[in-house]
Amino acid sequence: GIVVLGSTNMDLVAYVAKAPQRGETVTGREFRTVPGGKGANQAVAAARAGGDVSMIGAVGTDDFGVRLRAALDGSGVDTDRLRTADGPSGTAHIVVDDEGGNAIVVVPGANGTVDHLAPGDEAVIAAADALLLQLELPLAGVIAGAEAARRHGVRTVLTPAPAQPLPPELLAATDLLVPNEHEAAVLAGTTDPGAAAEALLRQVPEVVITLGAAGSLYAARGAEPVTVRAPRVRAVDTTAAGDTFVGALAVAIVEGRPMPAAMAWASAAAALSVQRPGASSSMPYRPEIDEAADA
Ligand code: ADP
Repeated sequence: GIVVLGSTNMDLVAYVAKAPQRGETVTGREFRTVPGGKGANQAVAAARAGGDVSMIGAVGTDDFGVRLRAALDGSGVDTDRLRTADGPSGTAHIVVDDEGGNAIVVVPGANGTVDHLAPGDEAVIAAADALLLQLELPLAGVIAGAEAARRHGVRTVLTPAPAQPLPPELLAATDLLVPNEHEAAVLAGTTDPGAAAEALLRQVPEVVITLGAAGSLYAARGAEPVTVRAPRVRAVDTTAAGDTFVGALAVAIVEGRPMPAAMAWASAAAALSVQRPGASSSMPYRPEIDEAADA
């Protein structure tokens, strides 16, 4: 199975013609609350792609916490290890303007309490085939999870988002790093994906850099890099494309598919998600992915 150690956030999204300046009040057109957080999104993507998925993290004691847990349950994610921490759930306050630009404030809330593993978490990680990690939890929690996986020989897949320099302990416990182009540039100090992959391979054994509509690039120590094209589709909303890709990629890897084939299957999943509006709500289920991947 797959374990995700990561964030859950309620996305609070206001749609407005033009975002307000400091001191200004504007009237918005629409407001939506959408379950999100990179951890939860990857968990939903993997579960819908057919994975046996368990989520470690925390929601708050507010109403959002109830909804966040229910959203994961509803997609088939096991939430037994998702704790409920006193106080508010994580929230992302998002203003989307008419040009599709956005401004976001993330308040970690309950996610901020996940700076260590709880009793029982390590046993769940030990029994998994892969542990998915991102950087929306305190680094101490992410490192604790990665090191637990390492102790038990469980493969770790790290999405280094939001982009930030990674501590050596975390790199040392990472098997597969999956940055997008921006994150790869921040980590490697170069905007050329090939050069970035080469630089990152000095720190981790395997790298997949996602390249948006251009697909994804795989690099491993001692092998020629491989680029896998993305299907050509009409994108209407690329929110959480990367999380859909990683969730599906993990399922394919755990099923034993070799890397370029796993990436092609994950690309089919991500391409389906960008053709529909929404984040986790747009993520495809296994039969659709198989059908799209065969086409
Ligand atoms: P993120 O969402 O993290 O910024 P990317 O933009 O690189 O990451 O997208 C992740 C993956 O989603 C890509 O590798 C690709 O497979 C798929 N994808 C993203 N945008 C498109 C698109 N416009 N058309 C087809 N596939 C896409």
